[in-house]
Amino acid sequence: MKKFNLIIDGKSVSTERYFNVINPATEEVIAQCPSANIIHLDLAVEAAQRAFALWSAVDDSVRAQKLHEIADAIAQNQEELMKLLTMEMGKPLAGYQGIGSGMEVGGSIAWTLATAELSLPVEIIQDNDDAYIEVHRKPLGVVGSIPPWNWPLMIAIWHVMPALRTGNTVVIKPSSLTPLATIRFVEIANQILPPGVLNIVTAETGIGSAMARHPGISKIVFTGSTPTGRQIMQNASSNLKRLTLELGGNDAGIVLPDVNVTDVAPKIFAAAFNNNGQTCAALKRLYVHEDIYESLCAALAEIAQAVVTGNGLDAGVDLGPLQNKDQLDLVIELAEDARKAGGRFLSGGRQTKGPGFFYPATLVADVSDGVRLVDEEQFGPILPIIKYTGINDAINRANSSPFGLGGSVWSSDIPKAKALAMQLECGSAWVNTHAAIQPNAPFGGVKQSGFGVEFARDGLTEYTSIQTVKIQK
Ligand code: NAD
Repeated sequence: MKKFNLIIDGKSVSTERYFNVINPATEEVIAQCPSANIIHLDLAVEAAQRAFALWSAVDDSVRAQKLHEIADAIAQNQEELMKLLTMEMGKPLAGYQGIGSGMEVGGSIAWTLATAELSLPVEIIQDNDDAYIEVHRKPLGVVGSIPPWNWPLMIAIWHVMPALRTGNTVVIKPSSLTPLATIRFVEIANQILPPGVLNIVTAETGIGSAMARHPGISKIVFTGSTPTGRQIMQNASSNLKRLTLELGGNDAGIVLPDVNVTDVAPKIFAAAFNNNGQTCAALKRLYVHEDIYESLCAALAEIAQAVVTGNGLDAGVDLGPLQNKDQLDLVIELAEDARKAGGRFLSGGRQTKGPGFFYPATLVADVSDGVRLVDEEQFGPILPIIKYTGINDAINRANSSPFGLGGSVWSSDIPKAKALAMQLECGSAWVNTHAAIQPNAPFGGVKQSGFGVEFARDGLTEYTSIQTVKIQK
C-alpha cells in the first residue's frame, strides 16, 4: 500500500497516524495519507513565512520561469497524475467529450503556463508638475489554499499558481477524499521551487478550519460548498484575512424555441453531465420552451441511454462513479423526492448495483421550481428539465436561486440570446455553451456563490495588495 507524506520546507514529513483513501469505483483502499495536526500546520506556515522573504524578493521573471518549469514537469508526469486522479476521484481517463483526467492534467498545464505569462506592472497614475504617483501590486504573505474533491488537481493549480506568480508562498490542504494527485504535484513542484515556497498538509478534519484561524496566514483561497465558505469567513475574521470564496452553484440553462435540437442536445448533455455532474458551474437546471420541450427531452434521453458509466480506468467509459457515498445518497434522495413530486424519468433513476458509488445518467422531466431537485444543487448525474412558456418567467425563475455562479441561454438569435444572458444574475453568462471556462477570462460567483474572481489579470490581483507611492513635486 503506497503511503504518502506531508511536504514541509521542501522535506517529506511523516506523521504518527495515517488515513485511508479509497477508490470510489471499487470502494477499495488505494493509499494512505498523513493525518497532520496543528503542530504540522504551524511548521508549514513558519516554513512558508521564512520562504516568503526570498520568494517575494526574486525578480518577477524568475517566478515566471519557475512556473514554466513546473508546467513542463507536470507534463512529464502526466500519465501518473491522470491515473491517481481517476483512482481517487473516479472521473474516467478520457471521459464523455474528452472531459476526464486527461483534460484535468492538460488544463493544469495550460493554466500554469497562462499564469506564467501574466504580469502586474507598476501603474503610473500621474506624472506632472504637481506630483508623480505610481501604484505597485505587492504579495500578501502566506496564502492558505483549500480545494474541494471534484477537480482536485486543477483547482489546486488555480489556487497555487497565481499565488506563487505574484510572490506569495503557499500552504495547501487538499480534500481528504482526493489528496493523492495534489501531494504528487507538490512533490514535483518542490524539485523546482526553493524550500518552503509550497507546502502541503493533509488530514481528515480540523486543519482547514485551523488554517482559516491561523494568524500566520494572510489569505485563504477556498473552493467548496457555501456552508463551509461561511465558516471560513467567520474564522478568517480574526486577522482580517483576504478571501477568495468560490462556492456552490445551481446554474440554469434556458433554451429558446429557435434552436436546432439535434445540434444543441449533445452540448447541453456535456454541460450538465461532465465529471458526472460534479462540477461547480455545470448546468444544473434546464429550462426549455414548450414548443421544443418534448423533442429536446427525447434527444437528451437518447444520449443518456447510450453513455457508458463505469470504472474510469476502463477504456470506453464516459462517466465514472460519484466521488463519495454522501454525494450518492444525496442524488438518490433528490431522485426519490422528484419521483414523489410527479417527475417523469426519461433515463436512469435507480442506483446501479455496487461495489462503487455508481448512479446512471438520469433525466427528470415534468418537474418545476419548488421541487428539491430544481431548488438545490444536486452535484451529481441527474438533471431536471423544466418547461416554460414566457421568456421573462424563465429568466425570473433562473434568478430566483440564492446562487449565482453561471448561467446560459441557447438560441440561434445571438443578439437576443446575449441580451437575455446578461439579465441572468451570475458571474459567468454563456451563449450556446456552459461551464466554458478558460485561463484568459475571469471567473467567479455572485450572491451565495461567493466573491472574488480567479483567472486572468483580475484573478492575479486577488493575491496582492496595492501600495500607492506619491512623490510631491
Ligand atoms: P466542502 O465545502 O465540503 O469542502 C471543501 C474543502 O473544505 C475540503 O478540502 C474540506 O476538507 C475543507 N473544509 C471542510 N470544512 C472546513 C472548515 N470548516 N474550514 C475550512 N475548510 C474546511 O466542499 P466539497 O464537498 O469538497 O465540494 C463540493 C462543493 O464545492 C459544491 O458545492 C460545489 O459547487 C463547490 N465547488 C465550487 C467551485 C467554484 O469554483 N465555485 C468549484 C468546485 C466545487
